[in-house]
Amino acid sequence: MSDSDSDLTTAPSSPRFITRSPFDDGGAGADVILRSSDGIDFHVHRLVLSLASSVFKDMFAFPQPDSDPVIPTVQVSESARILDLVLRFWYPGAEPTVVQTLDDLRETLEALIMKYDVKFVVPSAKKKLREHLADDPVAVFSIACRLQWKDVALEAAKESLKLPLRAFESERPRQLQYMTAETYHTLLQYHSECAKVAASATAALQWANCQDIPGVNCTNWADPIACPRTGHWTFAHNTMAPLTAWFSAYLDGATGVLSRSPAARLDSVDLLSLPLTKLGSCSSCRVDGFLELMNFLEILRAKIDGDINSIELKLDI
Ligand SMILES: [Zn+2]
Repeated sequence: MSDSDSDLTTAPSSPRFITRSPFDDGGAGADVILRSSDGIDFHVHRLVLSLASSVFKDMFAFPQPDSDPVIPTVQVSESARILDLVLRFWYPGAEPTVVQTLDDLRETLEALIMKYDVKFVVPSAKKKLREHLADDPVAVFSIACRLQWKDVALEAAKESLKLPLRAFESERPRQLQYMTAETYHTLLQYHSECAKVAASATAALQWANCQDIPGVNCTNWADPIACPRTGHWTFAHNTMAPLTAWFSAYLDGATGVLSRSPAARLDSVDLLSLPLTKLGSCSSCRVDGFLELMNFLEILRAKIDGDINSIELKLDI
């Protein structure tokens, strides 16, 4: 067995990258080679690279003499795996490769946009990044900030409102290392300001019409034993009334959840179990109460979303 064979069989975790069409050495008409940091050659076309990238256009500004039989080689800093992702993101005739991880997507987009200035891929690159909004909004926020995409950064910041970001309960987001402390502080400040407006929507109900309050149609209104009441609440137009204890339990729970995760689900099992364990004891509320609660949650969601939309993400990018 030769040394090179031995290398192939003893390092299964890092097999040598093999270029595929159209970047292998069979690439028809290729007139330049991009050599990756790990020494893999990609056969490409200067004209194609120049049309896509101002950086390559400047690099190839001095034409190679036609008489020179040697194809020039350009050393690049990307590994073969990332260079392949970078080229297959847009290169004509190249089958695209699925970018598996956010780390790979970040490296790919940084090379494409920040380093090689391939502007025309921005719409499709934003689309790719948005695919990760639900799974990892903090990482998407971090990458969007690096690429100075304020629209995607705001979408990611809004998505992060579903998480208890300031509770520090989960592991430190890996992509934090690619974000400045100032940028992360901006995200946390936005999260905190949104939490304040979201929690205030359930802590006080002056914004809500009395007829939309769950339990308002209870026929046991005058019987606090059949349907326990709590406090005196003020609603829109200075209407005042006590709340049913079961709806008050929901509001207390929701205020706690929203102060941690301002865009949390309002109909989570945990939250709904708070009123449902009490609601059944009233013969009237057990008939209509749940439906009234569901209708109120739609109004509450719209109120919270509207208030959150009024909060500015003070991002300096
Ligand atoms: Zn009742």
